[in-house]
Amino acid sequence: MQVPAYVEYEKATSVDHALTLLARFGPEARVLAGGHSLIPMMKLRLAQPETLIDINGLTGLSYIEVTDGELRIGAMTRHAQLLDSAVAGQRFAILHDAERVIADPVVRLWGTVGGSLCQADPSEDLSAAFAALKATMVIQNLTGTRTVHAREFHTGPYETVVAPGELLTEIRIAIVPGGGSAYQKVGRRVGDWPIGAAGAAIWLDNGSDSGTIADAGIGLTAVGAEHFSAAAAEDFLRGAPATQETFARAGQIAAEHCRPVSDQRGPADYKRHLAGELTARALGAALARATGAGPLPPVQRSPGQRSPGSPRPRRGGS
Ligand SMILES: Cc1cc2nc3c(=O)[nH]c(=O)nc-3n(C[C@H](O)[C@H](O)[C@H](O)COP(=O)(O)OP(=O)(O)OC[C@H]3O[C@@H](n4cnc5c(N)ncnc54)[C@H](O)[C@@H]3O)c2cc1C
Repeated sequence: MQVPAYVEYEKATSVDHALTLLARFGPEARVLAGGHSLIPMMKLRLAQPETLIDINGLTGLSYIEVTDGELRIGAMTRHAQLLDSAVAGQRFAILHDAERVIADPVVRLWGTVGGSLCQADPSEDLSAAFAALKATMVIQNLTGTRTVHAREFHTGPYETVVAPGELLTEIRIAIVPGGGSAYQKVGRRVGDWPIGAAGAAIWLDNGSDSGTIADAGIGLTAVGAEHFSAAAAEDFLRGAPATQETFARAGQIAAEHCRPVSDQRGPADYKRHLAGELTARALGAALARATGAGPLPPVQRSPGQRSPGSPRPRRGGS
């Protein structure tokens, strides 16, 4: 049986109280949100905090609301709450797409949005969704509040810009008209971490009637994408016609910039293939939502032509 090392426990009653406790106990203190990542890591002794500061009592950080033209999500919002939120799903369908395929109902009931982002697992789904939406993270400490772009939030695997003594308190997404978003994930089985996944958000020039892309966001996870995003593919999309050919090329560019590694979930070349294909599919689904149209027809390929980034067929296979 795996047992965590001895740890002090404090229960915070407000954000100020949590920040005061974090300041008092120093860098060896860790915040406990849903505990779905932290507790298993403590059992494996991969994390050995001296003090746990339980923030489950901070119900004031559990909300989803529209304020000043932004969707605002409190850091203690549970996955299940985000999945149930009509306002989140109507504004940004990508969030429901992603939440539907994160873990299982037990994890979703207690795991939090803030905990997922702060855990910064390189295969984490919401980090890719928020990168696609170009979200802003709100971080608080005893002296005030600062905001950080989603793409500057993660500094490496399991690392973020949230410093000792700080809390992630909110995630903000600007609501821009003429947009649509979607998330596509491939896992080994239902509820598993992704082998690869892509999120896309697309905004059209002059609202949904135009066929020209004003801006696009692409989020990728589990495929070694820098900052969970695909900046070169986004540059390519800006000003381009919103067609399946454009999306296929954007997928290729996204795949070329990934650095996937082979592991128990799959070989690197397969993950690269997923990055390209899922990016193209997510863009197509995002466009369909932006315009209210059905899915685009598939890209026409000549016989034997491979889909973007697809691995070469194995010789002698069936
Ligand atoms: C069986 C299983 C399957 C899973 N499958 C998936 C999956 O398919 N996709 C996916 O994306 N995730 C998956 N997860 C991860 C799951 O979504 C996260 O474990 C969980 O949501 C993390 O949130 P938490 O509230 O439990 O964080 P905790 O475990 O409590 O905390 C995680 C880390 O974040 C820090 N932290 C938490 N909140 C804050 C805050 N507000 N400010 C600063 N630091 C904070 C903690 O100190 C800790 O270091 C899975 C987990 C399990 C157990």
